[in-house]
Amino acid sequence: MDTIVSGMRPTGRLHLGHLHGALKNWVRLQNDYRCYFFVADWHALTTDYAAPEAVRQSGGAMVADWLAVGLDPKRSVIFRQSAVKQHAELHLLLSMITPLPWLERNPTYKEQMREIEGKDLATYGFLGYPVLQAADIVMYKASKVPVGVDQAPHVELTREIVRRFNQFYGAIFPEPDVLLTEIAKVPGLDGRKMSKSYNNAVFLTDTPKEIDQKLSRMMTDPARVTRKDPGDPEKCPAFNLHKIYCTPEEIDYVTKGCRTAGIGCLECKKVMIKHVISDLEPIQERRAAIESRSGYAEEVLEDGNRTAVAHAEKTMTEVREAVGL
Ligand code: SF4
Repeated sequence: MDTIVSGMRPTGRLHLGHLHGALKNWVRLQNDYRCYFFVADWHALTTDYAAPEAVRQSGGAMVADWLAVGLDPKRSVIFRQSAVKQHAELHLLLSMITPLPWLERNPTYKEQMREIEGKDLATYGFLGYPVLQAADIVMYKASKVPVGVDQAPHVELTREIVRRFNQFYGAIFPEPDVLLTEIAKVPGLDGRKMSKSYNNAVFLTDTPKEIDQKLSRMMTDPARVTRKDPGDPEKCPAFNLHKIYCTPEEIDYVTKGCRTAGIGCLECKKVMIKHVISDLEPIQERRAAIESRSGYAEEVLEDGNRTAVAHAEKTMTEVREAVGL
């Protein structure tokens, strides 16, 4: 069975962007792969180093959300990155052989330097995070990395690092392939990317009333200034949620209604909102059950940490020997 590795930064409450961008896919992958899913707390520190308490606190809550969505600790290894110190050791060794220009040309690095405001990201750790990412992936000899198209260059960088490492020290690591994943587009309430920091998110823990209120005021096609103006669903951020949640008949109904001004935006959104609420209901029920078992998410993490450490130590024994340490 092939191994896959994927992580998520603990930076606060999870929202629909996480659910459709990663978690639903992770749940499916458990059927076909040996999966390692980790709380990427060291990665979170590359940008949130000034607020480490938030990183620590949101780790357990995030795992509770993962379990509620359907990650199964019997089938997947669920662990905390910082509990497996071998990741740091491998990161150090990989950093020795990674040429600086490979990191400096990383498009995400340049983009985030531009976009993330109010944080000094001109740090050694932030530049080197793809090396840490490579260490995370190859530690478990993953053959596949589930990513959306826009993240594929990251995996390519991991492959380059692996090739260079193997060239110096022998064929220790497999080159991981991209497992291209169709990632549904989930815009936030204001049409920008859904994000806690933009204050435009629908959280997995929002009540039906909150979901209804938030989505009822979600941005629509700006051409629909009044109820009488026809619109274009393809220019409407809310319609991306219809595409995820609604039946083909409902899509057809709202598309026609929008283009002919036959329905108003609120009426249109209500068709989708009821699905969002009912889809989240079982997740929220499981989340409540998990919360009632005090310390359960931390127990899952501790078990997963032990399994991950055992595998990581095996890899590092091989690596230390190959490097001659
Ligand atoms: S009618 Fe529906 S699809 Fe059209 S702009 Fe309004 S919310 Fe969007």
